[in-house]
Amino acid sequence: LEESILRATQLDQRSQRLALLNQFSGDLSTSLEVDDILKLSAELFLSALSVSTVAAVLISDDHNYVLTKEMPASEEKLPRLLPDNAMLNHLSQSLGVFSTPDIMDVPELASLLQVYFTPRNICSLLIIPLDTAVKLHGWFWLSMEASHRFSPSEIELACTIGNQAAIAIQNASLFEETHQLVDELETRVRERTAELEEEHRTTQTLLKISNELSTGLEIDNILERTLSILNDTYGAEQALILLADGTSRMFSAGLSLVQPLEGFDFFSRTRPEREISGWVLLNRTSTLIENLITDSRWDFTDVDEITFRSVYAIPLIIGDQILGSLQLLHRKEGFFDVEKMGLAEATSRQISIALNNAELLDLARDQSDRLIDMLRDQQIDSSRSYAILEAVADGVLVTDATNTVTLFNISAERILKLAASDVVGQSLNNFMDMFELSAKSWMQTIERWSQDIHLYQGETYAEQLELDDGSIILIHLAPVILGSNFLGTVTIFRDITPEVVVDRLKSDFVANVSHELRTPLTSIKGYAEIMLMGASGSLSDQQEQFMETIKSNSERLSVLVDDLLNISYIEAGQIALAVKPIDLLKIAEGVLQGITKRSEEDRKLMDFDLEALSDLPVVYGDPEKVRNILMNLVNNAYNYTPENGRVVVHILLKENEVQIDVQDNGIGIEPEQHSRIFERFYRGENALVIASAGTGLGLAISKVLVEMHNGRIWFESSGVAGEGSIFSFTLPLLRKEE
Ligand code: ADP
Repeated sequence: LEESILRATQLDQRSQRLALLNQFSGDLSTSLEVDDILKLSAELFLSALSVSTVAAVLISDDHNYVLTKEMPASEEKLPRLLPDNAMLNHLSQSLGVFSTPDIMDVPELASLLQVYFTPRNICSLLIIPLDTAVKLHGWFWLSMEASHRFSPSEIELACTIGNQAAIAIQNASLFEETHQLVDELETRVRERTAELEEEHRTTQTLLKISNELSTGLEIDNILERTLSILNDTYGAEQALILLADGTSRMFSAGLSLVQPLEGFDFFSRTRPEREISGWVLLNRTSTLIENLITDSRWDFTDVDEITFRSVYAIPLIIGDQILGSLQLLHRKEGFFDVEKMGLAEATSRQISIALNNAELLDLARDQSDRLIDMLRDQQIDSSRSYAILEAVADGVLVTDATNTVTLFNISAERILKLAASDVVGQSLNNFMDMFELSAKSWMQTIERWSQDIHLYQGETYAEQLELDDGSIILIHLAPVILGSNFLGTVTIFRDITPEVVVDRLKSDFVANVSHELRTPLTSIKGYAEIMLMGASGSLSDQQEQFMETIKSNSERLSVLVDDLLNISYIEAGQIALAVKPIDLLKIAEGVLQGITKRSEEDRKLMDFDLEALSDLPVVYGDPEKVRNILMNLVNNAYNYTPENGRVVVHILLKENEVQIDVQDNGIGIEPEQHSRIFERFYRGENALVIASAGTGLGLAISKVLVEMHNGRIWFESSGVAGEGSIFSFTLPLLRKEE
């Protein structure tokens, strides 16, 4: 019976334990808090194993031993860090169970005696691991004040409770981790959503600003709108753009913390916003000013009133080009957050680009305006020129660089008897066929110039063209050159047939009359000489004087007639040179003798001098013609110099020629007459000129004769009476064979 009672008791105990364990697992399954699990486990240990104290020691993440729970609770504040311990170190490796009836027998526990066991009068100890396959969480310490050897069944029960508790802790910590993870994720999602919203807002704003800036039309309005968007975005009270382009313009939106001031000096130190602008441009970096008054970079003590405190300033720079600065202002200090200024920076870049574009646009506009003006001017010019060319009485033919005819005016049509429609657009070669040989040299000149314009030396090309119908056309040709480019040619045609015909008639008439005058003149002169010689009886003094006058006048008359004849011969091309070595000195002396005699006869006394080298080289020429030339010049000098004047003939040796100067101190030639002096029949209007007999042919003849000798003739005269004139001509030092 005793045995069956014992068994029954044992059974009873067992079923009680099972019930407790059941209850325990049930309780555990509802708990996800480590603290609850430890509490439940400790309670079970206390009731099921009759131990006096239960402690839970957990291993922290940084591998420290932490006394987390104690039952019954002591006065100690938990959790509490335990010192390092050899036994625990060993158990954390072996994952085993440890029990002892007396802790004093176990030296490995020494480090824990003072901190835990001794104050609680503990003697026997059972250590159960809180171990799952994943991790060792720590231990339960079951202890008694009495010495007690824990039986295998007690240990087994304790282990079972320990295992269940470990699993529950594992679950709890998993749950905890999951929970934390979820929390973390939620926070991250919330943060990211906020970031995205911020980014979205920034992008939207930037897009708005970009749109504003890219319209690029009225830069002033655009900048102001952009600034007010920035104000809205950052809550700034005023946004500014200060330009550094020399115009010192300022754009502003928001309040008027900074007043615009026309024409300020950009880097002036009297206004804070300008100095800040100078600073960011000098340093080429943006800056955040928390409080302008206390910022050590500036000292605005002498500035009257600064309303704003917070500034965010960004330089507007493209490459090397400094454009100005962008500034956001607020009266509150520390208003702007440097972290959030990305948008402002991006905007500043866009503004820089827009400003730059605007400048380029302005430049392009100016340029195109100028070009349009130029084009219009040119069009007006060219249509005016065209109209003028069409209207002139002379024929005009214009060719381009490819020798194609581009203009043939109405007069040209009339003069050349060709229709413009047959000529314009034609190559010059086709045109040449219409004229045959007579126009050859003219066409060849154009051809030559078009091939190499450097052949053109500034000469004027003139030619007479005789058309099949006998009309005479004077051609003047000139190239059109721009820089060193040949653009074409202009040819002017003038029909000179009537002039040529009249000229011929005049020459013929003059030649005939002169010829007819010669015979009677010769006999007048001859008879006067015979009578002077006394062939018709002696003459009274008065008669002799009259005869002398008749003789000298008939001589002068014959000179005039000779002039007239000469010019007719010259015009008719009927004059030739009889070239031989000549003695210039002798010719000059002869001429001067003649004039001296005349001056005595005229009772108009003058000095006549000859200044020449004695050993002049031999000059070849026609002595009669050279005498004519010199005589003409000396006669003029005599005629156009009042009494007691002086006439000097100089003969000078130049490099390849001999130069003869005839200098007088007479009436001179007024500048306005200079161009006409060598014209045929031209005579000056001075009283002395009119009083003297003359034809106006002397110089014209002299010029032709000099040029026939390949010499040159010219004169110098100031036109002031008394300063006289110098007429000069040259004769080349010809070798005989030339
Ligand atoms: P002419 O002497 O018969 O008038 P010329 O052809 O010799 O014709 O000269 C043309 C004009 O030039 C003269 O009428 C005169 O006005 C001017 N002239 C020529 N030589 C001189 C001179 N030495 N001094 C002043 N005038 C001169």
